[in-house]
Amino acid sequence: MVADMTDVEQRASTGVLPGWDQVDRLVVDAYGYARADRSGQVADYIPALAEADPEWFGVSVAETDGGLHHAGETGVEFSIQSISKAFVYALVCEDLGHGVVRDRVGVNNTGLAFNSVVAIELNDGHPMNPMVNAGALATTALIPGQGPKERWEAIREGLSRFAGRALELDEEVYRSEAATNQRNQAIARLLDSYGRIEGDPLAVVDVYTKQCALRVSAADLAVMGGTLADGGVNPVTGERVVSAEVCRDTLAVLAASGLYERSGEWLFEIGLPGKSGVSGGIVTVSPGKAGIGVFSPRLDSAGNSVRGQIATAFLSRALGLNVFASAVHN
Ligand code: GLN
Repeated sequence: MVADMTDVEQRASTGVLPGWDQVDRLVVDAYGYARADRSGQVADYIPALAEADPEWFGVSVAETDGGLHHAGETGVEFSIQSISKAFVYALVCEDLGHGVVRDRVGVNNTGLAFNSVVAIELNDGHPMNPMVNAGALATTALIPGQGPKERWEAIREGLSRFAGRALELDEEVYRSEAATNQRNQAIARLLDSYGRIEGDPLAVVDVYTKQCALRVSAADLAVMGGTLADGGVNPVTGERVVSAEVCRDTLAVLAASGLYERSGEWLFEIGLPGKSGVSGGIVTVSPGKAGIGVFSPRLDSAGNSVRGQIATAFLSRALGLNVFASAVHN
């Protein structure tokens, strides 16, 4: 695959991306390669998610210099779900700083499912990280604002700045999840019993449910990831959304726990910070180089898009993105 030494050096994580044409070709190749896989199941524990077409598939890359690449259905919109956790965390860090958020929410992997209650009990009632539901609820509660309405607006606006366009609520998904999320309500009440959540726990769950129901496309996810890759500056709009330090902290947390209890396997295969959601999206960040957005609704048993993982692994290798690799590998 690799022609000469110059190519090898360029394609290590510390190097640069190949030229625009080559990235464009490899995005199409990644799409074609992953599309053949039909394994996994569409999520149905939130009733409205079960309506997704299992064949939908899109792969987008947003380079930090603003170059964009798309293959497949990269404009199809879906609810962002858990991927919102990454960006809400970044917004809270921007407001409250590294130390406060680390102490209040934690940064360690739980090794347990995203909606685990056991993880809270095992840790003396303290949430363990912002990428699983307990820590994500605690993080949402820290968003500055007078009451739930203002907090929700701050989240919607903040995530829209990452995407570079006004994101909207998927009312159907929101209502469907709000009617069936007793488990998240239980998690919020449990945290409240330990004094670990700010404000009315059920109002926090409601804002969290809305943030999960924001509509994005694979193309949006690539730009949102590209903003984290670009030290907090949106590579398309040029707007600074968060500081470079906040991006660094957020990416560290994603590397440790962005794919829940599968985060170790993800890091081993792909070697990049990423975040998945149960509607089938995954955002991946190659610091300094690019954001990758993928969408395909069939999931593995931990709730991660199967084709999304295959396409991202392909791109990590072909573009030399693995942050642990000092030379290109096959
Ligand atoms: N809104 C979903 C939940 O809280 C998000 C979960 C996910 O994407 N893993 O259950």
